[in-house]
Amino acid sequence: MPRRTGLVQTVLGPLDASKLGVTLPHEHVADGPDVLNRWPKTWGGRAEFVAKAVEKLKFVRAAGVSSIVDLTTYDVGRDIRFLEELSRNSGLNMIACTGQRFFPPQDPRVSMPARTIAGLTEFFTKEIEQGIDGTGIKAGVIKIGIIANRPTALEGIGLRSAAKASKATGVPIRTHTDAAHRAGENHAAILEDEGVNPARVCFDHSDGSGDMAYFLGLVKRGYSLGMDHVHRGIGPDSKPSFERRAECIKLLIDAGFAGKIFLSQDTEFGGSLLPEDAKDWREKIDPPEGMLFTTQHLIPRLKQIGVPDRDIHTMTVENPRSFFGKI
Ligand SMILES: [Zn+2]
Repeated sequence: MPRRTGLVQTVLGPLDASKLGVTLPHEHVADGPDVLNRWPKTWGGRAEFVAKAVEKLKFVRAAGVSSIVDLTTYDVGRDIRFLEELSRNSGLNMIACTGQRFFPPQDPRVSMPARTIAGLTEFFTKEIEQGIDGTGIKAGVIKIGIIANRPTALEGIGLRSAAKASKATGVPIRTHTDAAHRAGENHAAILEDEGVNPARVCFDHSDGSGDMAYFLGLVKRGYSLGMDHVHRGIGPDSKPSFERRAECIKLLIDAGFAGKIFLSQDTEFGGSLLPEDAKDWREKIDPPEGMLFTTQHLIPRLKQIGVPDRDIHTMTVENPRSFFGKI
């Protein structure tokens, strides 16, 4: 069957990518909503948590955001029905992901024998083409989470599987990248070995680098950069600083690469399964504006330092349209 072009799979079904509008390409509505299925009283119970999340999402919608990409993989408690309910009730388009976060790999739903390139490729492809967890809801992006700068053997299997599934289905790839240690270059070597078109890959959390040579090296090879931790530069000891992260975005635009930049903030609403001490850390690093940090804080800063509206439009609307639309 010929592959349809320009369509993106949302949790409510296929959508023409031109209808995505302003899109946040790397967020988490909750950290592990699947916990509500196992411990129904968590976070005040499912109904209350859904209502709270919908209320917040409506606020995000009212601020001009139309679409959210939720990069919570199955092994961090993705709940596809939860995303479907939130999308339906908030009016936001939502794109769910397949893929895996490899720290640590312990979920029983993907068996150890499946942690081969063939096994994982089959699993990712099934979630893209048939649906997630027995539903007909399909993944619209592949997320691979790798903590260290150099992928381990197992993480390499994950990247190669993502590459094969992406090539087979047309769905793009986003990776959790340790940019401060140039991890994008190591991910790229594996993805290129698999013959992936760099235009279908975005290295997220890239703003943690602040090194223009690193950025330019990757965008010149055709890769995209997710600038989604910019708020983590706020604070006296944070490196790179918020100002430097914004400046790098401006410098990349000046160099002609607005078409390779994504803006988001990698936040999560409310529920979190992190241990108490880590939760405290997480709450401190998430911006007070939540999913509106980009709209309310970063974009005004970019405009202040001279980024024109047309480039803001490119980064927030046009790049998601061409990246998430299947090709
Ligand atoms: Zn994330």
